[in-house]
Amino acid sequence: MTQLWSFGGGVHPPENKSQSSSRPIRPAGLPAKLILPLQQHIGEPARCIVEPGQKVLKGEVIAQVGNGMGVPVHAPTSGIVERISLEPVPHPSGMSDTCVVLIPDGEERWCELVPQPEYRKLERVQVLALIRQAGIVGLGGAGFPTNIKLRPSVDRKVDTLILNGAECEPYITADDMTMREKADQMMAGLRIMAWLLRPARVVIGIEENKPEAIAALRQAAEGSKTEIAVIPTIYPSGGEKQLIQILTGQEVPSGGIPADIGVMCQNIGTAVAVADAILQGKPLISRVMTATGEALAEPGNFEVLVGTPARHLLTCAGVDKQRMSRLVLGGPMMGYTLPNTDIPLIKTSNCVIAASASELPAPAPEQPCIRCGQCAEACPMELLPQQLFWHAKATEFDKAEHLNLFDCIECGACSYVCPSSIPLVQYYRFAKGEIRLQRAEQQKSDRARVRFEARQQRLDREQQEKDQRRKDRALAAAKAQEQKTADAQTRVQDGTVTDERAGKSALVEQALARKRAKAAGASAERTEPSTQLSEEAAPSETFTPEHADKIPAAETAPSIEELEQQLTQAQTKLEKMQSMLEDAHSGQAPNVDKLERAVDKNIERVRHAQRAIDDAQQQAVPANGNAEPALSRTNY
Ligand code: SF4
Ligand code: SF4
Repeated sequence: MTQLWSFGGGVHPPENKSQSSSRPIRPAGLPAKLILPLQQHIGEPARCIVEPGQKVLKGEVIAQVGNGMGVPVHAPTSGIVERISLEPVPHPSGMSDTCVVLIPDGEERWCELVPQPEYRKLERVQVLALIRQAGIVGLGGAGFPTNIKLRPSVDRKVDTLILNGAECEPYITADDMTMREKADQMMAGLRIMAWLLRPARVVIGIEENKPEAIAALRQAAEGSKTEIAVIPTIYPSGGEKQLIQILTGQEVPSGGIPADIGVMCQNIGTAVAVADAILQGKPLISRVMTATGEALAEPGNFEVLVGTPARHLLTCAGVDKQRMSRLVLGGPMMGYTLPNTDIPLIKTSNCVIAASASELPAPAPEQPCIRCGQCAEACPMELLPQQLFWHAKATEFDKAEHLNLFDCIECGACSYVCPSSIPLVQYYRFAKGEIRLQRAEQQKSDRARVRFEARQQRLDREQQEKDQRRKDRALAAAKAQEQKTADAQTRVQDGTVTDERAGKSALVEQALARKRAKAAGASAERTEPSTQLSEEAAPSETFTPEHADKIPAAETAPSIEELEQQLTQAQTKLEKMQSMLEDAHSGQAPNVDKLERAVDKNIERVRHAQRAIDDAQQQAVPANGNAEPALSRTNY
């Protein structure tokens, strides 16, 4: 006998389960078209890999996922892809999303299936990959990828594996009927999950209002160590945290997950899907759904292909459209109204209620809160629903968050008991949505700020490196120039310059040295021009007046000094252009081509200036090749 604990709060709404549990599970068959949303799970949406007009086989992957969180989508039957388009999907907001619309060909031709009955011979990661590739997500409503859930982090060892057969919400009997009719399949799936997790304890929690299912489970689990724990019927005992508390006495910490306390909960339908995937190689393309409500002549449970429009299921159950005033997806406590019957039923859809006007009447008008406190008594999470409502209504989201808004499981127990008919859960959903939106915005702006700061740092670093390179170049050039000048002067003074080329070079160096001296003493030059002229001539110790006959004949011809000035200007400009080109290269500027052309042009100018000096000096050098000072009318 399994020891049981209890949780605070909870309510006892009318069960309304017998309407749909009196008939065996029936196949819903092929609808005229299947609408398959690419996102039927928590995580990244799958990426469509088929095209309009393409033929697909039953079980073929039509949308694949990357390495992130997500699972693929498969064709539930063979047929032709009609279109890939935005279609209304099951969501409380009535939103549309990208879907593959498939027209069945009626042939039901399967793709090749690869069963793994000897899965124990595989690595565990291989089995997890098969579960992922089969597109399995938690069928209890959240749609969390099962392969990820079955691989908790190393610091979260799962000691207790719970199969959730409580199915506490009124009207819904899909799990009840699955346990009755597919107990062996379910047990096989449970064994696979237990093999993956190696827990010390495996327990199936089931409410006492399901005697047939309890009997079927006991028979299927006979001889195994799996416990069948029959728990009291109270809503929401099937909530993950509530069931864990009932079966283990442990509470999942606020903001935590069951694995934090060594527990994992899986759904009945998920266990069946895992068995189908591993033992038969079949992907998740259908599931058991309840179709119930007073507007249906033959309510019951159906094996429904994923993507089947709600209209088709209602037809199977004998809908009386005149009587149907409201179509609810899910149960009356946690479900929401569908805007029309074309909405497709997906992996996480477990029930549709075609309710008559008297069955699920429109909610009474909201009245002011009378502070009766009944909502707090009913809350299974021991929250303060009344205060949460005030803060959500006043958009004081931080205060609502402070009161553990995100621990609310949206079970609707508080709304159910509220005498003022306040749609409390809707306020909580609104507040959660706004907070998530604000967080997303904050994350977006944080990411943008980080990117901006990183870019700024990179630009600063590049600028510093550029400046340093410039300084290094200038320093090296100055040193080289100093060295050349010193060498030239030494050779001229020592009389060691013997060949024509060296003589020319020495003369150029001397001229450059004079130019620098001239620039440095520019002010003095302006005040004492005659002195400066004589000083300029002075460095040339070998100069003698008799060299006057070397003055160029044409008065308009530039002197060597002027040519040297031109050379210096050309060199300066070339260096500037080369520096700009280097900057442009590192900054990937668009004017690189232009600068390259400018550099080429300036190289040519430097060469031209150098040639002009050579020519002028050729005329100035005596026939014996000894170096002589360059003369011009100016320095003469
Ligand atoms: S049950 Fe309704 S009326 Fe009563 S305290 Fe809660 S919100 Fe207010
Ligand atoms: S909906 Fe949230 S606040 Fe209301 S009873 Fe359920 S858990 Fe508590």
